[in-house]
Amino acid sequence: MIKRLQNVKNLIQTAARACGRDPETIRLVAVSKTVPTNRVRQAIRAGATILGENYVQEARTKFNDLATYPVSWHFIGHLQSNKAKYAVRLFDLIHSVDTLKLARELDKQSRKINKIQEVLIQVNISEEASKSGVNVKDTHNLLKDISHLENLSVKGLMTMPPYFNAPEKVRPYFAALRGLRDRLEQQGLLNVSLTELSMGMTGDFEVAIQEGATLVRIGTAIFGKRE
Ligand SMILES: *Cc1c(COP(=O)(O)O)cnc(C)c1O
Repeated sequence: MIKRLQNVKNLIQTAARACGRDPETIRLVAVSKTVPTNRVRQAIRAGATILGENYVQEARTKFNDLATYPVSWHFIGHLQSNKAKYAVRLFDLIHSVDTLKLARELDKQSRKINKIQEVLIQVNISEEASKSGVNVKDTHNLLKDISHLENLSVKGLMTMPPYFNAPEKVRPYFAALRGLRDRLEQQGLLNVSLTELSMGMTGDFEVAIQEGATLVRIGTAIFGKRE
């Protein structure tokens, strides 16, 4: 795993340099969903600094077991409002806010613990009916509403494109998310600076980097195939 993690980091650096980007502007989220605590610990010892989890309950257990390590936990899965209370206690960044209802609950729970919770807006860039994420045309309104919530700070956008086994096929979706970000930035919303683009996974992170990703979420290439 040490080798795999190092290899992924090298590939990120190479991809960044090849398109004229500073590798420091791209952060690796090691996606540890379903990976047992002892293997997550190995990854931390090998240099993983951000862990990405999809399930609140699973993350709570690992978080408690690994509390002594100075790592950052990110939530990348679908979040139900009734888990918001736990999510704001665990996660430094929540990538998957896609409704005002969820945002309001996160805001309320963050206020209780005196926290400004950083979040990303998950966009359903391919507009597939089965996918989570706000539709492209509703993103501006959602952002505007969230920008009024005092205990949330929106940092950028996230997307899960459709699955293809050829990364070039995903490129248009990454480019679309960046384009949407650029348009929203131009519209200049109160308190919102969309610096982060969370996109790219094991099969397509190099293309995502070429299209402007600042957070790549990588599981399989680090931990191997999930059960
Ligand atoms: C599982 C998951 C990933 C990581 O996928 P890999 O293909 O294993 O790298 C990234 N993002 C989200 C939202 C995921 O659920």
